[in-house]
Amino acid sequence: SVKTPHNFNAGPSILPRSVFEEASRSLLDFNGTGLSILEIGHRTPLFEAVMDEAVALLRELMDLDAEQEVLFLHGGASTQFMQVPMNLLDSSAVAAYTDTGVWASKAIKEAKLFGGVDVVCTSKGDHYTHLPKDFTVDPSAAYLHLTTNNTIYGTQWQDLTPFYKAHVPLVADMSSDILSRRLDFRKFGLIYAGAQKNIGAAGVNVVVVRRDLLGKVQRTLPTMMDYRNHIENGSMLNTPPVFAVYVCLLTLRWLKGIGGVDVIEKENERKAALLYDTIDALPVFKPTVAKADRSRMNVCFVMDNPDTQAEFLALCQQEGMVGVKGHRSVGGFRASLYNALPYESVVALTDLMKHFAQKKA
Ligand code: PMP
Repeated sequence: SVKTPHNFNAGPSILPRSVFEEASRSLLDFNGTGLSILEIGHRTPLFEAVMDEAVALLRELMDLDAEQEVLFLHGGASTQFMQVPMNLLDSSAVAAYTDTGVWASKAIKEAKLFGGVDVVCTSKGDHYTHLPKDFTVDPSAAYLHLTTNNTIYGTQWQDLTPFYKAHVPLVADMSSDILSRRLDFRKFGLIYAGAQKNIGAAGVNVVVVRRDLLGKVQRTLPTMMDYRNHIENGSMLNTPPVFAVYVCLLTLRWLKGIGGVDVIEKENERKAALLYDTIDALPVFKPTVAKADRSRMNVCFVMDNPDTQAEFLALCQQEGMVGVKGHRSVGGFRASLYNALPYESVVALTDLMKHFAQKKA
């Protein structure tokens, strides 16, 4: 018999079982209509209710204010690397960017197509194993961009004070830690996140944008790229990715049902603490990033003796630990502990690590 896998995938990644069950049912019969969720028009009251509830739940879970608009858009987070500067950065203006990993540097590359970019700090020289905290931002910058959690390296800003002190609009890529912890989301000018980790299914991303930041650039924007058009049309300027939005709705309902962001934050802290404590306690494993910058979403580590790496990976495979191999650019191991990953999966992984350590002692 096949063991129930423990899913540590980095994204797309684990979602609640109840979400998969209800999504499956709705593929055959959505809300007792006898129709599949895949065969109803998006401009029907049936689907409009899905979109409205998803937006309302996100607004509630993030505790947003009335000036912040919630959008569900196509294209993944990578499209936001381009859409953000297109909407917010004039060709004669400068935006400040923090370079904390490959995703951040991809955002920088796109921004340069539209205006000036001031890379205010980077930890590239140290292979992004820590977060560069000393930076100054010109008060005339159009915005300051950060990646709140660096999925590949396993670093996460724990203290956002340096950003709040910049006094320019904050733009954040929260793809890999949105809704995992309480942040003051009202402090952000624009937030974007691919949905495929904590929000739902791949194929859609969430954008939260302050209305007053829009309409200030000189350039003419293509219709589909202008956030204002999506706001006016309630994320239905064209056909939205209906199934992906529906899976987001189910996941957001689940999160609200278990108590919301504050409850999941405690649970995420508990999971991460168990895994980091285990890494720190066992000499055969070595953490890879600065302690203060450790991510609670993606935990990266290597073996003290690299020759044993393949052996541990094989053991993980044998015991049903899925997705623990590190990103191809970093190597080693990465266990992603997103919202839907149960504590029991971390217990199973840490038990396996202890067992392996004993064998090697
Ligand atoms: N930003 C971050 C922090 C990510 O982790 C990822 C993907 N893992 C992306 C951006 C790119 O997302 P997408 O594939 O949705 O374009």
